[in-house]
Amino acid sequence: MKALVKRHAEKGLWLEDVPEPTIGINDVLIKVLKTGICGTDVHIYKWDAWAQKSVPVPMVVGHEFVGEIVEVGSNVGVFEPGQIVSGEGHVVCGHCRNCMAGRRHLCADTKGIGVNRPGAFAEYISVPMTNVWHHADGIPLDVASIFDPFGNAVHTALTFPVLGEDVLITGAGPIGCMAAAVAKHAGARFVVVTDVNPWRLELAKKVGATRVVDVRNEKLADVQKELGMVEGFDVGLEMSGNAAAFRDMIANMCHGGKIAMLGIPPEDISIDWNDVIFNMLTIKGIYGRQMYETWYQMTVLLQGGLDIEPIITHRLNYREYEKGFEAMFSGQSGKVVLDWTE
Ligand code: NAD
Ligand code: ZN
Repeated sequence: MKALVKRHAEKGLWLEDVPEPTIGINDVLIKVLKTGICGTDVHIYKWDAWAQKSVPVPMVVGHEFVGEIVEVGSNVGVFEPGQIVSGEGHVVCGHCRNCMAGRRHLCADTKGIGVNRPGAFAEYISVPMTNVWHHADGIPLDVASIFDPFGNAVHTALTFPVLGEDVLITGAGPIGCMAAAVAKHAGARFVVVTDVNPWRLELAKKVGATRVVDVRNEKLADVQKELGMVEGFDVGLEMSGNAAAFRDMIANMCHGGKIAMLGIPPEDISIDWNDVIFNMLTIKGIYGRQMYETWYQMTVLLQGGLDIEPIITHRLNYREYEKGFEAMFSGQSGKVVLDWTE
C-alpha cells in the first residue's frame, strides 16, 4: 500500500510502498478515506528537536483520519466492516490507575498514532478497537477527518463553563478558530481572538469570533473598553504556545478567571505569578481529548448546527502532500485535508 513515511532522520516525508498492516484479535483494520495534516506532522516533516527525540524512523506518520472498516479481529464484537470511523490518536495502556478508573485521557503511558506507532497517512491503518469512534450518520467526511484537532478545541473550550462569559482565545490557528466557533455556539457573550497573522484572524471572524485582535497593532485593554467589559475575561483559551500571548492573557483576565492551556510552548515561559495569586486565577493544562466524552460532545455540537467546515481551506489528493505541507508552512491555511480514495 501507499503511505507517507518518515524514512530518514532528516527534513521531509516520502511517499512509499509499505506492507499493509496486519490485525490482532482486538484490532480493527480501516481503509483510510481522508486525513488531516496536523501541526505535529509539520514538526515531524521539519524534523525539529521534538520530532528527533519522539519519532523512531522509519515511521508511517499522520493521526487525523476518517475511514471505513474493512476487517475486525476475532475478539471485536461491536464494530463491523462498512462502518465509517475515526481513530482516537492516543493509545493508552489500559491498566494504570487512571485508565482503570475510566480517566483514559490521563493515562501516564500514552502512545501516539503516527508518532510512536504506525499512522494514518496510508491506505490502511490498524488500531485497537478501544480507539475506534463510529461516526453518527450525516457527519461530512471532511469534518470527520479532523475530529482529532476538533476534539482538542472542544476539550479546551468546554473545560470551564462559557455560557454568558467573555472568552479570550490567544492564537487563531485551526484549533483556536474551532475553539472560537465552539465557545460562541456554547453561549459565550464575547469571543475575542488574538493572533499576529491577519489571514488567520479573518478565518476566526468567519467562524464566530465577536472581535479579532492583531496584537501587533492593538491592545487587549483597549478592546475590553470598546466592548464595554469592566473586569477582564472570565475564561482564557491559550492556543498559540507563544510566551507573549500567554502573558497578555494573564494580564487581561478578571479576578477568579480560568485559563485552559492547550498551546505547547517550545521553551520555558516566565510569567508574573503575582497576577495568578492576587487575581486568584486557575490555570489548567489540556492534553488531547477526553475518551470518549469529547467525541460525544463533538458529534452533538455538529448535530446542533455548529459548522466548522470553513476551517478546512485546502483539499488535495495524497500524492500532492508536498503542496499541503507548503500551505501549512505558509501560515495562510486552516486545515489541510488529503484524499486517499483515488
Ligand atoms: P498553529 O501553530 O497553527 O496556531 C498557533 C497560532 O498562534 C498561529 O496562527 C500563530 O500566528 C499564533 N500566534 C503566534 N504568536 C502569537 C501571539 N503573540 N499572540 C497571539 N497569537 C500568536 O497551531 P494549532 O494547530 O492551531 O494548535 C494550537 C496550539 O495547540 C499549538 O501550540 C499546538 O502545538 C498545540 N496543540 C496542543 C495539543 C495538546 O494536546 N495539548 C494538541 C494539538 C495542538
Ligand atoms: Zn494508562
